[in-house]
Formats: sequence, C-alpha cells, structure tokens
Amino acid sequence: MLSFFTDLPNHFSLPRRINRLGELAYNLWWTWHPDAQRLYRHIDFALWEATYHNPVQFLKQVSRARLSAVAADRHFLDRYDAVMRAFDEYLHPESTWFRRSYPAVEGHIAYFSTEFGLHETLPIYAGGLGVLSGDHLKEASDLGLPLVAVGFFYTHGYFTQRLSDDGWQEALPVDQRYDDLPIIPLTDADGQPLTVSVELPERDVQIRLWTIQVGRVPLILLDSDVPANSPADRQLTARLYSSELDLRISQEIILGIGGVRALRKLGCKPAVWHMNEGHSAFLTLERIREKVAAGMAFEQAAREVARSSVFTTHTPVPAGNDEFPIWLVERYFARLWPELGLTRDQFLNLARREHGWGETFSMPILALRLAEQRNGVSELHGQVARKMWHFLWPDRKENEVPITHITNGVHVDTWLARRLALLYDHYLGADWRERMDDPALWEQIDRIPDAELWEVHRHLKRKLVAYLRERARKMWLELRVHPVQVVASGTLLDPYALTIGFARRFATYKRASLVLSDFERLLGLLNRPNMPVQIIFAGKAHPADEPGKRLIQEVYRKVKLAENGGRLVFVEDYDMNLARYLVQGVDVWLNTPRRPNEASGTSGMKAAINGVPNFSVLDGWWREGYNGRNGWAIGEEREYDDPAEQDAADAESLYTLLENEIIPLYYQRRASDGLPVEWLARMRESIRTVTPRFSTRRMVKEYVERLYLPAMRAVEPPEATA
Ligand SMILES: *Cc1c(COP(=O)(O)O)cnc(C)c1O
Repeated sequence: MLSFFTDLPNHFSLPRRINRLGELAYNLWWTWHPDAQRLYRHIDFALWEATYHNPVQFLKQVSRARLSAVAADRHFLDRYDAVMRAFDEYLHPESTWFRRSYPAVEGHIAYFSTEFGLHETLPIYAGGLGVLSGDHLKEASDLGLPLVAVGFFYTHGYFTQRLSDDGWQEALPVDQRYDDLPIIPLTDADGQPLTVSVELPERDVQIRLWTIQVGRVPLILLDSDVPANSPADRQLTARLYSSELDLRISQEIILGIGGVRALRKLGCKPAVWHMNEGHSAFLTLERIREKVAAGMAFEQAAREVARSSVFTTHTPVPAGNDEFPIWLVERYFARLWPELGLTRDQFLNLARREHGWGETFSMPILALRLAEQRNGVSELHGQVARKMWHFLWPDRKENEVPITHITNGVHVDTWLARRLALLYDHYLGADWRERMDDPALWEQIDRIPDAELWEVHRHLKRKLVAYLRERARKMWLELRVHPVQVVASGTLLDPYALTIGFARRFATYKRASLVLSDFERLLGLLNRPNMPVQIIFAGKAHPADEPGKRLIQEVYRKVKLAENGGRLVFVEDYDMNLARYLVQGVDVWLNTPRRPNEASGTSGMKAAINGVPNFSVLDGWWREGYNGRNGWAIGEEREYDDPAEQDAADAESLYTLLENEIIPLYYQRRASDGLPVEWLARMRESIRTVTPRFSTRRMVKEYVERLYLPAMRAVEPPEATA
C-alpha cells in the first residue's frame, strides 16, 4: 500500500471513546460498508440525511449531546468496535488476492481518468465513465492491487439539475468546500502544500495535489485553484468537460503531464499506466520526454512507453472521442516537439486524423499508438472498436486489429441492497463475497425461499416510493414549484404497481423517448384496472448538449399530462444516491440505446444483481448477459441503415413484449400464497447469471491478468525485441 506524508485534517471534537469516527470519515471505505454508514445514521438520522451522507460535514455539525449519548450506549459501542475492527483488518490485511496470486510482481499501477464516481457527496463525475472508474478503484482496493489513481478535484463539481415547469434543464453550480469533503491536502515535510508545475502557452501553471483515500487505494486529485495562478488559470480545473477548446486542452495537459509529475513528486514508480479513455493520453508524451531527456532515442522511448501502457476506449460515438484542431495543438505543444527530438510533422503524425474537411489531433489515436494493451468494454464494443480503428492497422484484417475487450462490471458492495446482502449471508454462506465471481456459488440462489426474496424486494420498492415522495414534499415545501411538477416528481407513485426504471445520461442515442413514441398505446397500458404500470425517468444532459436537453423536455412534457394519472415520473438530479434507490427498488430496468452505440452500460448490471430483470436492446453488455430467461431483449440483433426504421422496429418490439409478456407475468400470482413465482424465477436468474460475470471482481481480475501483468512484465524489455 502506498501512503504519503499527510496528517488527517482535524475539524472535529469527538468523545475519546468514539474518536475514530473522524478517521473513518476520511477513508471512503465506509461508502461500501453499510455497517459503517449506519453508525453515523444512528447518531442523528435527520442530520445524516441533511448532510446528504457526508460524514465530514456530519461530524462538524452533530450535537455534543448526541455524541455523548452514543458514547455511553453499550449497543452502539459494540457496533462501533466491530466496524473499527473490520476497518483495521481491511487496512492491514494478512494477505490479499493480488499478493497471493502474484507475490513477485513489483511496481504500481497508475490509473488515470477525468472523472471518478465514488459517492454522491463528491460530484467529480458526470455519468457512467466516472462510476466505472470509481468502482474500479474500490475493487482494486478490495483485491489488494498496488494501484494509485489520478484525477481532478473540480472545485465546482458537476452541476445540480433542476427542471423548469416546461421541462427545460437548468444547471445549478455546485460549490465544493474543501473543509466539508474527505479530501486531504498533500504536503511536504515542512507542511507546505505539494504542487507541480505545467507549461501552458506563455506561462507556467501551478497544480496543487490532494488525495482521497479509497480503502487501500489513494486517488490523487489535481487542482489549479492556487493563489500563484492567474484568476483565469485558477478556474482551469473548476468544471468537468468544458466544450471550450482552450480549457479542454489545458485540462488534458494538466491531467496527462501534470499527473505524471504528481506521481514523480510523490516518489511513486508505476510499472503500468492505464489511460481510462483518451483524455489522459498526453501522459505518454510526458513519459517519452523524460526518457529522451535521460538520453534515450525517441523510437526506443516510445516503444518502452507503449509496452507499459494500457488504453481503454469507452465509446463508439464520435462526440465521445476527443480531437483538437491542429492550430491549437501547435500553440500548446510547439515547445515540446524539439524536446522529444521530433519535427512538427513527426509530432503531429503521432495522432493525426484525416477528415473529409481537414485534419485534427486525435486523443484516442495518440493513446492507441502509444499503448500496446488496448481494450473496448464489451464483446460487441470490441468488434465495433476494431472496425472503427481498422485504418490505423491497414495491413491487418479487421478481426486482427489489436484491440481486445474486457466487459465492464459493477462493484457489488457499492450497489447491492443491504437487505439482499443479508439474505446472501444467510443462504449462500458468510464468505460469499470472497467467491462472488464463481458461477458455482450462485447456483445456490435457489436456497432463498420465494417468500423471503419477494419480501425483501417489496421492502426496497416501498423504500424507493417513500423516498421519492419525500423528495417531492421537499420540493413543494422549499421550492414552491408548480403543483404539476410535484405530481411529475412521483407523489402519485403506487408501491404495488409494476414499476419500470429508466435512468441514465440523456444522450440522444439512448432514446429515452422510445417508450413514449406511441403514446396512445402506452396510455392504454398505464392505467389498466388491476395491472397498472408506472415508469420512472431520471437523468442529466450535458449542459452544452442541446438535443439532449430537448429530449428531457420532450419526456417531461409527456410526464406532466393528466392522462397518465401520475404514472409517468421524472426525478430530477440523477446521481449515485438516486441510482442506488432506483436500481434496488424498481421491478424492471429499461434500456433502449440505438445499437451499437452503447459501448457497455453498467446501470443494468446494478439492477440485475439486485434481482431487477433487464428489458433492453441487445447492445453493450446485455448482448452478452441476456440468456432468454434473465430478462427481455428488445428488437433484433442486427444492423440497420435507416435509424428511423430501427426506432420503429425497436418500439414495436418494446410494446409487444410489455403487453404480452412482462405485464401479464408480473401480475400472475400463485393462488396458494399470492406470490408471483414465475416473476421470482426471472429475478433469481438475473442474480444468478449477472452477479458473477458482471461484477468488477471479474473485471479487475481480467485487467490484471490480461493487460496489467503483460505491461508490468515488459518493464525490463527483453533484448531480442529491442
Ligand atoms: C451507473 C450509473 C451511470 C451509468 O449508466 P449507464 O447508462 O448504464 O451507462 C450513470 N450515472 C449514474 C449516477 C450511475 O450510477
């Protein structure tokens, strides 16, 4: 485990007997250990909710009286001691999967990403990419990988979403307060803040370093908001994904080049460098520069960098693949290419992309050229990526393009409902977590009695409905919105009706409005006597994505109509907290991307491990996950030339399945005990097939075995290949 010279900030005054609650607040380990969360919750439930589950803020505000009361409560102290014991054992394990499996492997794995979705109180993520990075870190920690991550501390975070009464998305800024978050300033031995410097045109910018401890894994965060920088430069790392080109390239230079310098400053010697998406690809240039400065020729340096680099591509959608105009790259890199021993043209050729209308500098191309280990994030996406990047390997056949795939997964302890985990403890054995990627373990899922599984599911659904109503009440109380908006946000939800969840980023290819496309037909289903159906929508559009915002508006206008009886709902401000309620509490998880644009998708996996069957297009992970019995497949496994034809065919399939299969199956109850036994069989099949294969346990092990180890072993290049 890496540890840096830091002191935990000390903002709290806690009774001595329970003073380690402060230490716990500064390690995100608590975010995937419900017993730890329940300590805070138990101390003051209302404050825990009011601080949005932020233990740092919570401990600053909680009353002395409550603290003294629990510090004298034997039951609380027993639980406190058990949590602290588990925490200590976690931080100082006798052994880990990684050490047992690879006792002789040396060096760190550096993992770079622009976003990390770790918890709802840290809005340094926008969507799926971030949640995947966050889950990757938690799993790397659980498995004992010597991993250190690098990202940004965005001082304004990702925005809070509000909808106007006409459904137009408003993006409210978030102001993060350093003191209120579990981030720790990195300092030198004299207590001075650690910084690194990065060259931007006509100036050097100072970057301050922070760390967040994620179990055993440190996440280093870069932040340009330091007094030494100009006011404009202090804003460079304020927000995620600016569409302004100078800001964007500056951020990526800070991440790639500043990130390498940060790790050097911390004395960390990574043996493998993982670029999670192309935003961090400039790190390859900094690493080459280091080697050239030490006397190596460019070719040799580039070869060594490529051998020890891993690149994961996450999207076939062109807008997701970062490119910069050549003139911009010249402005930012003219001083670098001589240092690499390259001419302007040689430099630009590293990542030049020809379009019909001109040329660009492409970040994924830079990463593909300078990383020998490359992967897409599902089997289908691997194929799509090989086709998309075939032109870079013109001498090879398409299926020989050297891009493999590792299908995404989700961190089970983060996303699995506590009540279900208790059932697994009881029926699968207390050690089920150690064996969660073994399909044989999940064969025993049939040991859970129908009645118990159904009772837990109904509990989670009631919890979701109660939560959404409470949010609606707050909106009504505090925001004084139009009454229709209160209805639209879920006040009329019925905890017994078949409930479909649709929550994700509002990117147009995800087709949120497909289920609304034949509105009359849908209305016929929503309010049928004895078989009501309700659909809950949630999701943000990127603030600069006008079509995405129009899509939200289109959905919202339908949601507000009286004819649907309050059975269509849009919940604002989708984040990890709302995602947890939804994936655990709905009956069916709907996903309607336009195939093959969904590289993987992960929210459906979160639903499936909670016994919520997927109802989805055979795209991304679902094309691998679907087995005919664990959910439903929308549309066919084929390509279309005409998107309108594809949309019509998929909509027809969606409605037919809902009418003929899903709704009848849900409401079919066994006479003797009133249980939906056929439905329960789908729920079990979902858990049984998805948990072992689509967890980050399987995923991170695969990264280690197939991509990290080959790169780590390449550190000392064999003579023969030089
Ligand atoms: C899991 C998750 C996502 C990813 O959703 P997909 O559309 O399935 O890729 C996005 N946002 C949040 C808040 C999530 O929890």
